[in-house]
Amino acid sequence: MSTLRLRQKHRYKLPSEGNIMERIAYLGLGIMGSGMATNLLKAGYDVTVWNRNPESCKSLIEQGATQAQTPAQAVENAEVIIYSLADDQAVEDVVFGQDGILSKVRSGQIAIDTSTVHPDTSRKEAAAYAEKHVEFLDAPVFGSKNESASGGLWFVVGGKRDVFERVKPILSPLSETIHYLGDTGKGAAMKLVGNSLVATQIEALGEAMILATKAGLNPKDVLDVLHVVDFRSPLFDGIGKMLVNRDFTPSFALKHMLKDANLIARFAQDLNSPTPAAAIVRETLKVAVNQGWGEENASALIKALELEAGIIVES
Ligand code: NAP
Repeated sequence: MSTLRLRQKHRYKLPSEGNIMERIAYLGLGIMGSGMATNLLKAGYDVTVWNRNPESCKSLIEQGATQAQTPAQAVENAEVIIYSLADDQAVEDVVFGQDGILSKVRSGQIAIDTSTVHPDTSRKEAAAYAEKHVEFLDAPVFGSKNESASGGLWFVVGGKRDVFERVKPILSPLSETIHYLGDTGKGAAMKLVGNSLVATQIEALGEAMILATKAGLNPKDVLDVLHVVDFRSPLFDGIGKMLVNRDFTPSFALKHMLKDANLIARFAQDLNSPTPAAAIVRETLKVAVNQGWGEENASALIKALELEAGIIVES
C-alpha cells in the first residue's frame, strides 16, 4: 500500500519523510502472532511473515503477505521487525540462531519483541541489536486470542522513548492501549507482574468454585454472585463460564502459563521479592501440565485442584 493510502487509512502522521516505515517482518504466527500480523496487513502495511512451521503462514499469504524461508530472509528488507514467540528459548533460536534475525539486520531497523520473556532476555536482545545499530523495544501484551484478532491488545513497552514514539502508529492498529514503562526490560517486567496477578486469580477462582460445589451451591449461581462489585473481574467471568461448560479450548495455553510462572519465580528471586501465593500456583500448574493438559487453556490448572478435591465443577 502506498504511503498516501496508509496515511489516509489511519489518519495519523507517519514518521518524517525519508523515514517512513511501511515494510514489516512478522515472525511467529501462533495464536497471538497470527492475529497481529493479520491486523498489520489490514492496516495496509507490507508484511513479510515467517513461522517455524511454514503451514501457519498460509492464511497470511492468502491475505497478501509475503512468505520468507528463514528469519534472516524475513528481516532483510523490513524497516520494522516484530515477533511473538513461545518463550526465551524460541527467542534465542530465532534471534541469535543460524539464519536468525541478527545475521541479516542492518543499521536503522527497529526490532520489537512481543513475546513474554524474562527481562534479562530483553536486555540481551537490546545489547545484541545495539551492536548492529538496530533499535529494540520489549513490548509484550496483555489480552489473548480474541484481543489479538480484533486489534484490542494492551501493550506494555520498554526501551528508548523516542523509538517507542516512532513505532506507536504501527502498534496502534493492534491495540486498545499502549503503555510506555521505561528503559529496556521494563515492558517484560510489567508483563510478569501482570501475569502473576492473572495466575493467582485463576487459582483463587478454582479454589472458590470447588469449595462452592462441595458446599452444594450451583456454580452458575455462584458466577452470578461474582458479578457484584466486590468480586467483579472480566477474568472470573470469562474463565468461570468456560469452567462450568467444561471448555478448555486454548486461547492462552497452560504450558505458557507454567512458563510464565517459572519466569516469575526467577524474576522474584533475583529481586528478593516475596511471592508465596505465586509459588503455590506454580505447583498447581506443574501438576496440571504433568497430567498432560499443557496444550489446553491456562484455566485447566483448575482441573488439578479438582483432582485433589475429587470433585468437578460443572453446571
Ligand atoms: P503459540 O500459539 O504457542 O505460538 C508460539 C509461536 O512460537 C509459534 O509461532 C511457534 O512456532 C513459535 N516457536 C516456538 N518455539 C520455537 C522455536 N524454538 N523456534 C522458532 N519458533 C518457535 O503461543 P501464543 O499464545 O501465540 O504466545 C506467543 C507469546 O505471547 C508467548 O510468549 C506467550 O506467553 C505470549 N502471550 C500469549 C497470550 C495468549 O493469550 N495466547 C497472551 C499474552 C502473551 P510453530 O508454529 O512452528 O510451533
